[in-house]
Amino acid sequence: MPDGPLPYEAILESGIRGLTEEAVATGVPTQLNVLVDEALALAEGLLTSLRTLNPPEQPADCREGCAHCCRFQVAVTPPEVLAIAEAVRQHDDVDTVAALAARCADLATAERGVDAAGRVRLKRPCVLLQEERCTVYAVRPLACRGANATDAGQCAAALDGADVRLSLYAHQANVMKAAARGLNHAARPEDGQLELTAALAIALNESDAAARWMAGEPIFAGARLPRRATPNSDEGGKA
Ligand code: SF4
Repeated sequence: MPDGPLPYEAILESGIRGLTEEAVATGVPTQLNVLVDEALALAEGLLTSLRTLNPPEQPADCREGCAHCCRFQVAVTPPEVLAIAEAVRQHDDVDTVAALAARCADLATAERGVDAAGRVRLKRPCVLLQEERCTVYAVRPLACRGANATDAGQCAAALDGADVRLSLYAHQANVMKAAARGLNHAARPEDGQLELTAALAIALNESDAAARWMAGEPIFAGARLPRRATPNSDEGGKA
């Protein structure tokens, strides 16, 4: 695999960026859900084509109930976390949503300043994981969709702090990172990749979060992850 983005990544990123700009320009919060659905469909469609053209050398060892990677820090874009919050509100009753919002806020406070490596050491499951299953699977972040490994034992070892280079299907990670860059549409410097728990706390606790973000209010500033130095790594990427 050559260094740097592949042509399909640029095409996907550009297409989703255009959709993002159009959706944000409407100022209509429901358009964010449409946007995320479209972005996910484009990304998953491209990945299906890549699997046909360039099949994985080994099958993924990812399966339902295996959630090692749900203990890593998760990066998410504003449209994604707003869509997740909306899905939670649609699915759960008011008390359940309020309890999740409070749990997110508590965890975000407890983990403020904890970097990706520190998060691994905590081994704390994602706030959206229940009985080793993702409660928002249909709208899970692109970073989670990109995570894959051909040996779940390597994921467990990485979680135990071993310096492991995971064997994975790189196209899957590449596609989802490119889609995240398109969704990120960071026309505002306070945007960028967000930490999932902190961003979800904001999306659930702030009134009219989607409308305010679309209007340009920097509501997610407190959830922003530090930018990384390597190209491509400031978007997507679970850990
Ligand atoms: S959002 Fe879902 S898939 Fe992603 S880390 Fe959380 S529980 Fe796991």
